[in-house]
Amino acid sequence: MKLKKIISSIESYAPLSLQESYDNAGLIVGSANADIDKALICFDVTEEVIEEAISIGANLIISHHPIIFGGIKKLNGKNYVERIVIKAIKNDIALYAAHTNLDNIINGTNKILADKLGLKNIKTLNPQRGILNKLVVYTPISHKQQVQQAIFEAGAGHIGNYDSCSFESDGLGSFRANGQANPFVGNIGELHKEKEIRLETIFPSHLKGQIINALLQAHPYEEVAYDIYKVENNISNIGAGIIGELPEATDELPFLNSIKNITKAQGIKYTNLLNKKIKKVAICGGSGAFLINTAKSAGADVYITGDIKYHEYFDADNSILLADIGHYESEQFTNTLLFSIIKEKIPTFAVQISDINTNPVNYL
Ligand SMILES: [Zn+2]
Repeated sequence: MKLKKIISSIESYAPLSLQESYDNAGLIVGSANADIDKALICFDVTEEVIEEAISIGANLIISHHPIIFGGIKKLNGKNYVERIVIKAIKNDIALYAAHTNLDNIINGTNKILADKLGLKNIKTLNPQRGILNKLVVYTPISHKQQVQQAIFEAGAGHIGNYDSCSFESDGLGSFRANGQANPFVGNIGELHKEKEIRLETIFPSHLKGQIINALLQAHPYEEVAYDIYKVENNISNIGAGIIGELPEATDELPFLNSIKNITKAQGIKYTNLLNKKIKKVAICGGSGAFLINTAKSAGADVYITGDIKYHEYFDADNSILLADIGHYESEQFTNTLLFSIIKEKIPTFAVQISDINTNPVNYL
């Protein structure tokens, strides 16, 4: 199977354009045209994981964390990153990472933990700004339905829990075709006026290509008049972290214990108990201390994340329970998620999850 087919199964779920600016997700080693026999999914790429891939005949490793994050100027094996990259290249193994693009979708990194906790009414904790566009297109009345359906099917018109969102108004379009034109209506050299519908909808920028393609296919005109604007609104299902509600309010310590059981965390670091029930739960797997205040403003009773530093615990300020369950522990379910994304799109492809626990942190 071509690597690009496997990549597109992942990126149609978690578009690469949604990754953070500091990230390096995507294809890191290898060619998208390579033929892949088998893939191994892991959390971090380590030398042991490369050995495992070799032993099972996998020539693709899909990880959550990218093995190369910053720039590399030399490749002489002086550190683990260089050794891993060299070993992958020598053994013709491609390396691919789905990182913050998987974090930034509502059904991404935090989804499985949220499901295991039974959270309902899940929303993005910190919705992204600046990725929403407005599309305005002018279509003859006869083809309004066809154009509208095509752009909706390509992903336009989603707002929160609603799809097919649009607005339409009617007016008069005008044009004059020259001798080289092949107009859908009107005559060559004559000014034509046509009753048209102005159709407006929105879409996230990563869907622009497929929406414009669908529009051009469905629209009958030789030259389609359309405008795309940037809009400032948040997009409700893309961004960092999630927040949801437990089906029943729970006491704090039993709640922390249930997280410990679910994640098999060896230890949870938490702030003062507030002696109130937990109902609203915010989660951001990985290093999520940057969202402590966002979780507080969103009214979360508890915020579950990893990598909280000493002084950041004070930010709880007796108004939220902070629980640091560990970076690995909070994101470990990305393996299962990536497995199910690929299996759903390409059921026959040979893919398996690594047996190696790559958590570099031990607890005594
Ligand atoms: Zn992480």
